Amino acid sequence: MSSIASNLARVQDRIAIAAEAAGRSPSDITLVGVTKYVGASETAELVRAGCTELGESRPQQLWEKAADEQLRSAAVRWHLIGHLQRNKVNRTLPLTALVHGVDSPRLLKAINTAAAGNPTPQQLLLEVNCSGDSEKHGFTPDALREFAPQLGDYQAVEICGLMTMASREGGEKSAREAFALLRDLQGELQPLVPDSVKLRELSMGMSGDFEAAIAEGATMVRVGSALWEGIRGG
Ligand SMILES: *Cc1c(COP(=O)(O)O)cnc(C)c1O
Repeated sequence: MSSIASNLARVQDRIAIAAEAAGRSPSDITLVGVTKYVGASETAELVRAGCTELGESRPQQLWEKAADEQLRSAAVRWHLIGHLQRNKVNRTLPLTALVHGVDSPRLLKAINTAAAGNPTPQQLLLEVNCSGDSEKHGFTPDALREFAPQLGDYQAVEICGLMTMASREGGEKSAREAFALLRDLQGELQPLVPDSVKLRELSMGMSGDFEAAIAEGATMVRVGSALWEGIRGG
């Protein structure tokens, strides 16, 4: 087994163990393999090892990888996990299965406009700033409570759930609190949003904290570094 394949197997095992410990099915958790640290050939090897949900945090890097001949024909679903600038929406949407970081009404509106007329709605997640860190992107929980009734106004998108990032400095306890806050917010918002909106996904957890995120209900974990340990360029 290549080291990329064995890293992937190890991460999948850790996901399964964390899911079972939480009384959940491992199949309810999607692993998004974050490829921002490596080039197209390592990424292609990860796909061959069985990880076809891939995440990039910068739009340009997503464009480049999605167009690379080693990846173009593979059955990859791309996730944009970082910030999306409004001037990059048009070029990014056709390549992206799920936009994780929709962090303002303005961006939501821009995506909705760009997706109008598409055969299927653009899937996206609303990013929530759960740590109260003012440097971070995302809706505050209060802003989202206020905005919730309007989420049905955007007909060309499908708002699939919520996403958050724990603060880097905060350590395990604060990460777990941020994940619990996102889960509680999901439960609180669901009755406030129109019936057409189902907030079913919780995208939370990275290499250092995905087990805690799974314990708190993550349905998607975004894992980079743990997949690239010992890999050149990783
Ligand atoms: C880079 C990144 C990840 C992956 O982080 P690792 O700690 O390398 O697993 C997850 N989510 C976002 C938004 C990122 O930018």
